[in-house]
Amino acid sequence: MQFKFHMPVKTYFGEGCLANNSSELSKYGNKALIVTGGSSARLSGALAEVCGILDQQKTGYVIFDKVQNNPTPENVKEGGILARRSGAEFVIGIGGGSPLDASKAIAVLAVNDIEPEQLFTNSFAKRPLPVIAIPTTAGTGSEVTPYSILTRADKQTKISFGAPETFPAVAFLDPRYTVSQPLEVTVNTAVDAFSHSLEGYLGKRRTPATDILAREGIRLFGVCLESLRSGDISLAVREKLLYASMLGGMVISHTGTTIVHGIGYNFTYFSGIPHGKANGYLIAEYMRFNYDYAKDRIDDILALSGLKSLDELDEVLAELIGRPPMLSPDEIKRYAAITMTQRSTKTNIRPVEACDIEGILERLRKL
Ligand code: NAP
Ligand code: FE
Repeated sequence: MQFKFHMPVKTYFGEGCLANNSSELSKYGNKALIVTGGSSARLSGALAEVCGILDQQKTGYVIFDKVQNNPTPENVKEGGILARRSGAEFVIGIGGGSPLDASKAIAVLAVNDIEPEQLFTNSFAKRPLPVIAIPTTAGTGSEVTPYSILTRADKQTKISFGAPETFPAVAFLDPRYTVSQPLEVTVNTAVDAFSHSLEGYLGKRRTPATDILAREGIRLFGVCLESLRSGDISLAVREKLLYASMLGGMVISHTGTTIVHGIGYNFTYFSGIPHGKANGYLIAEYMRFNYDYAKDRIDDILALSGLKSLDELDEVLAELIGRPPMLSPDEIKRYAAITMTQRSTKTNIRPVEACDIEGILERLRKL
């Protein structure tokens, strides 16, 4: 048995965790840049709590609330300029995966005089500013991963960067901040978390330690399934979803994702489909594709999530998120070619060629 396990994020979990550990916000400097989207930080109540603590501690702050969904290099460049101009000494990211990923990029750009495209070299002359991550969705696990995923128009896809220095320093996971999510965001992001755990569990880079985390993340998705289907989501269920999301993030920090994410980026890039939903379209077909290579593990995923078959999984996911848009033969070829440029094709347990991706997408059309 040989593996490396590296999880350097100081993680506080539970209702009131920020207020109960507020001194953490004073440890990283005298001026913060708060990075968020247009509404999530305010609606979730997290921004008010953070600002209240910073005011009390007399720590200065500036707010950058322009992070777009699926942020771009230009978007994070703007945040980097503000960080530098304002003399920020640390970054507080509040929001779903988009603001949290943007925070990591902005933390690098704040201290390194580089163009955003150079982020993808994963090598930075100066150590990024410390990031404090506060999720308001329960899906990406970005608060415990080093990854920042940016939309690249030049490559017509989404590409991630990440290095040991881009892990957040601290994460505060309070399920109350996820209550204000619209139901669709709750469901899509829960599917993303499920996808992280199962892709990690089936991927080539899995380890005995990530298997434990992944199996629990998968089991919790099963426990929460009925609530997700009914739309009646209590705070106790939200707590489980947030915990499952964190576990999924810890898994992919080690294993990376596989072709569910690699193919899914096309649906987001070309059709604006939210990230978790795009993954959800592909999960059942991805497991069918890999079945002969990981039969025991796929049966285990079904048993853990309380489902009898891949057909049932397919139906449950379709009920939650719907079916993918109909792709033309040309689109299928384009999606497959772009997916083959993704690193995630290398982590799939079964070798993947462009014709395999085309086959997966063809089969989705027939469902
Ligand atoms: P998101 O793009 O961050 O947010 C989706 C929408 O939900 C936004 O409109 C957002 O509002 C809103 N929202 C978020 N929390 C809310 C709340 N509590 N109340 C009301 N509205 C709320 O969605 P996401 O699925 O969490 O993140 C997706 C991004 O993360 C993608 O770019 C994906 O590639 C990336 N990702 C990263 C990792 C990683 O390891 N780093 C893993 C998987 C995915 P605002 O407009 O105010 O933000
Ligand atoms: Fe994801």
